[in-house]
Amino acid sequence: MARIKTIETGLYRIPLSVTLSDSTHGEIKAFELITVRVRDADGAEGVGYTYTVGRNGGAIADILRREVPELIEGREADDSEALWHHVWWGLHYGGRGGPTVLALSALDIALWDLKARRAALPLWRLLGGFDQRVPCYAGGIDLDLSVEALLKQTDDNLGKGFRAIKMKVGRPDLGSDVARVQAMRKHLGDGFPLMADANMKWTVEEAIRAARALQPFDLTWLEEPIIPDDVAGHARILAAGGVPIAAGENLRTLWEFKNYIANGAISYPEPDVTNCGGVTAFMKIARLAEAFNLPVTSHGAHDITVHLLAACPNRSYLEAHGFGLDRYIEHPLVLEAGMALAPSRAGHGVNFDWTALERLAA
Ligand SMILES: [Mg+2]
Repeated sequence: MARIKTIETGLYRIPLSVTLSDSTHGEIKAFELITVRVRDADGAEGVGYTYTVGRNGGAIADILRREVPELIEGREADDSEALWHHVWWGLHYGGRGGPTVLALSALDIALWDLKARRAALPLWRLLGGFDQRVPCYAGGIDLDLSVEALLKQTDDNLGKGFRAIKMKVGRPDLGSDVARVQAMRKHLGDGFPLMADANMKWTVEEAIRAARALQPFDLTWLEEPIIPDDVAGHARILAAGGVPIAAGENLRTLWEFKNYIANGAISYPEPDVTNCGGVTAFMKIARLAEAFNLPVTSHGAHDITVHLLAACPNRSYLEAHGFGLDRYIEHPLVLEAGMALAPSRAGHGVNFDWTALERLAA
């Protein structure tokens, strides 16, 4: 046990080595990384982070710099629940959801890292410890690639050891989506886990039509067919489309996930630890899914999330996200025969190269 002494926030703009594309966000050339370093009175440090697809990182960093220190400094660093609720309610009126919950997520990750480091345990063991090996898929952000380039990217991913792959759909014409998924299925062979992600592109009726057209290609799931605000629409697509539905990267609270799960609107809850409220909220969402007999998957920040899914008996696939931090961290994610390995180092074990990041300060 030790009191929180300081919190230090960083904001960086990370260029991507290749331009990524999906149906909603268009071309993505860079992403924003917002880091939090919490130090306690004994000098121990925990690190957390969140990210955006390119905008609003300044608002998140501003919340962390302007509001959060006063709320948490001097408080007991080990009391994750108390700190979570104190920050959540402290910022609730002026920013429930949105940048506030991304800021809270980064802080909460740092506090869990600090707690695990002080306990000299890898985070996945501190959270319960189920299985260090987590099935993992490559999350392609590839809507604008030609079929030829898509298959080439797929071969690269197979070469890296991936044994499950997600691709984007949601092109202007459904025929093009169907042809691309068909080409991928033919290339990968029957039984190879393949997912497709529409990034909220469709209406409910379009999504049902798309799900039915994609049914022959045995998708593990169809992701974010419509806007996150339409829970009943997801339930209709799931019932009428005949394909499992994943969603969650645009849900921001435990209670939003509850609305989906309790209404039978989702097959694979897919929280992102950097925007759902951090480790504290992610684990509650995962346990809620367990109680409803649902697998839980994940979005983004795979270096953190591998620990969380390694602590969940109902874990499905970990997404290895396109916004990798490999160039800026000491130990990138290790993959063995399609399984990601949760590190044995204390904490989450993500050690940033702060000097390299400083050159990208925004
Ligand atoms: Mg997605």
